[in-house]
Amino acid sequence: MDKLSSLSGVRRISEHHNFRASKSLGQNFLTDPEAVFGIVDGSDIGPDDLVIEIGPGMGVLTQEAARQAGQLIAIELDAKLKPILTKTLAPFENASIHWGDVMKTDIRALIQEAKDKAAESGAPGTGSDLSGSVRIIGNLPYYITTPIIMKLLEDRLPIASITIMMQKEVADRIVAEPGGRTYGAISVAVQYYCNVHRILEVPRESFYPMPQVDSTVLRLDLWETPGAQPDSEADFFTVVKAAFSQRRKTLSNSLGALGLPKDRTAALLAEADIDPSRRAETLSLAEFAALSNAYTRCKAENR
Ligand code: SAM
Repeated sequence: MDKLSSLSGVRRISEHHNFRASKSLGQNFLTDPEAVFGIVDGSDIGPDDLVIEIGPGMGVLTQEAARQAGQLIAIELDAKLKPILTKTLAPFENASIHWGDVMKTDIRALIQEAKDKAAESGAPGTGSDLSGSVRIIGNLPYYITTPIIMKLLEDRLPIASITIMMQKEVADRIVAEPGGRTYGAISVAVQYYCNVHRILEVPRESFYPMPQVDSTVLRLDLWETPGAQPDSEADFFTVVKAAFSQRRKTLSNSLGALGLPKDRTAALLAEADIDPSRRAETLSLAEFAALSNAYTRCKAENR
């Protein structure tokens, strides 16, 4: 029989179930065992871990992750995949499916519910009490990658890591260091919450249907304390957003988006010891924190 992680396997299952991949749902199914194992091994799943998978599709990653996890919950939006996914996961007693939109799913509640059940009875079939970590994995739909990542991080979920595949260009922006053209608000935001590792490059030929872009697997390990310590997190993100609102402009111009008079913007930059002719793409997280603290003080003093 064809394996699920093969082109012939995905084609055969699609034909058998009369299933057509939806472009608008970002359905590009993995057909490359090396990439499947790259994501699962790269996520370092242990037998006491709870794994949440986003967008399981036909279940190619799900099966491998379920073999290693205490329990797995897969969140899938497309109900047309029900006959396929329920069949693929039938042998895995420790895997369950939550049908719905990940953006509208209360993942914290799913985690709590799984942990409560495991504490009462132990996870069925594994004996795991889920005392390990909570890990998120997924081959994310391209159309919604950044919103999903930001939701996972901003919700402050009790998770240890997020190992996800995304369009290579998005991954390049997330891992970018200050000074490069790809460094932007998403780099600052993700690096604020996580230690970021590049795990694997995956060519477009590894998917069916074949997308028009290549992919990268990143692992995001959540910091115990954020990568910078601004006095106000809300102000930190307001300043980052304003600074990158016109990334080609100098900070003295782009920070105009904060709505302060020019002389106050200049005072903020002086207080944070940042040359006003610099651009946002050159600032480290620590410098953004200094600028944000100056902004917080400025607001408090109503200057
Ligand atoms: N994990 C499978 C694989 O690697 O072959 C499928 C990956 S495919 C790139 C993305 C999956 O995410 C699809 O199954 C799609 O239906 C699902 N999806 C798309 N939007 C979603 C959403 N908002 N919430 C949950 N799942 C979604």
